[in-house]
Amino acid sequence: MYEAGGWVLVESTVADLPADLRWLYESDAVTLEQLAAIHRALGVTSAADLAEAVREHHIRSIDGLDAEVERRVSEALPSLRAHVPRVPLGRATTLAAPMLETLRAVPGVVWAEATGSLRRGQDFVGDIELIGPAADPAPVIDAALQSPQISQVLHRSARRATVLVARSQVSVRVPAPAIAGTVQLSLTGSPVHYAALRALARARGWTLTAAGLTGPDGASQPMSTEAHVYRALGLPFIPPEIRHGEDEVEAALHGSLPRLIAASDIRGDLHMHSTWSDGRDAIEAMVEACRALGYEYMAITDHSEHSAAVRNLTADGVQRQADEIAALREKHADIAILHGCEVDILPDGRLDFPDHILARFDIVLASLHERAGHAPEQLMTRYIAAMKHPLVSILTHPTNRLVPGRRGYDLDYDYLFQVAVDTKTILEVDGAPSHLDLDGPLARRAIAAGALLAVDSDCHRADMLGRQMAFGVTMARRGWVEPKHVINTRPLDAVRAAIAAKRAGR
Ligand SMILES: [Zn+2]
Ligand SMILES: [Zn+2]
Repeated sequence: MYEAGGWVLVESTVADLPADLRWLYESDAVTLEQLAAIHRALGVTSAADLAEAVREHHIRSIDGLDAEVERRVSEALPSLRAHVPRVPLGRATTLAAPMLETLRAVPGVVWAEATGSLRRGQDFVGDIELIGPAADPAPVIDAALQSPQISQVLHRSARRATVLVARSQVSVRVPAPAIAGTVQLSLTGSPVHYAALRALARARGWTLTAAGLTGPDGASQPMSTEAHVYRALGLPFIPPEIRHGEDEVEAALHGSLPRLIAASDIRGDLHMHSTWSDGRDAIEAMVEACRALGYEYMAITDHSEHSAAVRNLTADGVQRQADEIAALREKHADIAILHGCEVDILPDGRLDFPDHILARFDIVLASLHERAGHAPEQLMTRYIAAMKHPLVSILTHPTNRLVPGRRGYDLDYDYLFQVAVDTKTILEVDGAPSHLDLDGPLARRAIAAGALLAVDSDCHRADMLGRQMAFGVTMARRGWVEPKHVINTRPLDAVRAAIAAKRAGR
């Protein structure tokens, strides 16, 4: 077809290939015939498969191919994903959730989880690849392919399927339960982390692949869980969120892995909006949702007068809002409702409410919401002025990035963290999918500097409170954050004491 000019058909067929195969073809590393031969012989559909095929020298042994083709594939792999469109974490989670539910509902499916960058909680996700081990894969693949949200099936074989959901590619793997641990580990990565584990195995004379851990005698030991694999390598389980390939394996070897914060450590949520500013729900709906999440306390923190939000809390509104909260405190005695606000930091560093109003709030959060306009030095000056203000307890979404689309401020964050420590200002890990700010790497630098964090939902609707808190916890986990680093893992008295201490200049 290509030679006869039927290239449109070829193009559209190529466009329908599983993404990584398409990128490989478009990288010019292989011809379509070679790509087809590799896929037919090895069943590869992803970059992870290709990497494994290269490592195990499987490509050169395929009829008609040779070591040269294998070398070209190997060379193309590192940049293969440079141009892969990435999906923000929130959207990837939304796409994966119904499919995971479908998988978990099939009898015989042991468990089902995301893998790859989604499981590692990366802010942008490359592939959405799910795994659901089962002895008999056919009914699992059938069920997966019947999900109503699928727009197209790209690939189906005995133990895997690749589909399009809302123009994003989702893959499902159904390995035999006996090898599910090694498959999950290899798919979850990161590639650097996995390479470190393989090196560790090699040092002991073993080979780690998706199919199992093979000893020097050639006997392969299947592993049904990741914990088995880590244990065999002499390591404690390393949580997926910190499998960045930096120093986690080293820390695991020395027994110094952090006890990462978990959703169950969160006692309350200190940042959310109601209809008094740009939230969708009334305060009472937010209160009820926080009670349902089992929180001991919560803070309503609407935007101040001149914030860029579509609707703001006015100075006049503060007393009426206080009255509404007082009534709700009587009605819902099982949760402490803090009356707070998220006050904008004005261009000159002053705050968007006068002090006599700010002093009426139980807690004050301060933030910048501007998209651009000020040079880094001016932004830093405004931040420092806000942090020095005794009434400001928390600095929210410090980089003010927007996911996707806008990078955060280009600031000297180590200096900012130091000022936060010196002024006893708490820094936020904001779980709103459009913020995810601080992200993992910055959160890690913040706690290294000695800063105290708050993990918040910054939620604008009651039904998203739990989900957005979960994203915040994920970001914090990626930053090696432990419960002791986070104010809202502490009882309310400790929260109030921290606020009071800064206000009193202690
Ligand atoms: Zn904000
Ligand atoms: Zn907010």
